[in-house]
Amino acid sequence: MWIDTHCHLDASEFDADRDAVTAAAVAAGVTGIVLPAVAVSNFGAVRALAHGNRHCVYALGIHPLCTPGAGQADLDALRQQVAASIDDPRLVAIGEIGLDFFVPGLDAAHQTWLYTEQLKIAREFDLPVLLHVRKSQDQVYAQLRRVGVRQGIAHAFNGSNEQARRYVEHGMKLGFGGNVTFSRAKQIRRLAAGLPIEAIVLETDAPDIAPAWLSDDQFGEQHKARNTPGEVAGVARVMAGLRGIGERELADLMWRNAVAALPRLGTFADIMAPR
Ligand SMILES: [Zn+2]
Ligand SMILES: [Zn+2]
Repeated sequence: MWIDTHCHLDASEFDADRDAVTAAAVAAGVTGIVLPAVAVSNFGAVRALAHGNRHCVYALGIHPLCTPGAGQADLDALRQQVAASIDDPRLVAIGEIGLDFFVPGLDAAHQTWLYTEQLKIAREFDLPVLLHVRKSQDQVYAQLRRVGVRQGIAHAFNGSNEQARRYVEHGMKLGFGGNVTFSRAKQIRRLAAGLPIEAIVLETDAPDIAPAWLSDDQFGEQHKARNTPGEVAGVARVMAGLRGIGERELADLMWRNAVAALPRLGTFADIMAPR
């Protein structure tokens, strides 16, 4: 019924109980989980997880926080592995890629180079992208335009109405997750309530960005609780409330949007589509 369009299921936080976490998500109605990679060193892990669970698909890419130390050899490895897996329907995107201008100590020019080169790989193989956009909305968008990539998801989107509109008009979907469950997240909730419904997909970013109900302290501790892909069902309940529509209708819309952003998900409609 629900698709978690962004979940780091390979993270060490799940080493002790990964199968139970996935089973609980499926039991909660989560029929599709998208696993982005973060570095060449975890490409094998996300691929193996996606091949080991019919509800999971994967993406390959180098995350902005993993760019220190990454270089041409990593881009070559990415390109080679994408080429080798291009006929694998479970490879649905290039990601997680983007720019992070919030975390200190990252070289902006180096990040931008790796991001742009990965956009070119996405374009070359006609794959959508999973974007990490943190204090970098305008810069991530500028390279999307420049390279000409028009399909994918800007995950955990947090920007102005104007920035959101630009992404949506360019063809991108915006991912909403745990942040939207906090009543103090006024701008994110405004976007979630007011954007065209066609612009929205749901995600968890598990194990990060736990929803309000998993957080001890609604005023800053939300990143400390472990999030799981099953929580996308609760995010969906909040979204249905913000939009004033029923969950079943929302599920159909969210499925359609996820397939529009990540067309290869459509291959798995018999497993993942709401019914
Ligand atoms: Zn991210
Ligand atoms: Zn992520």
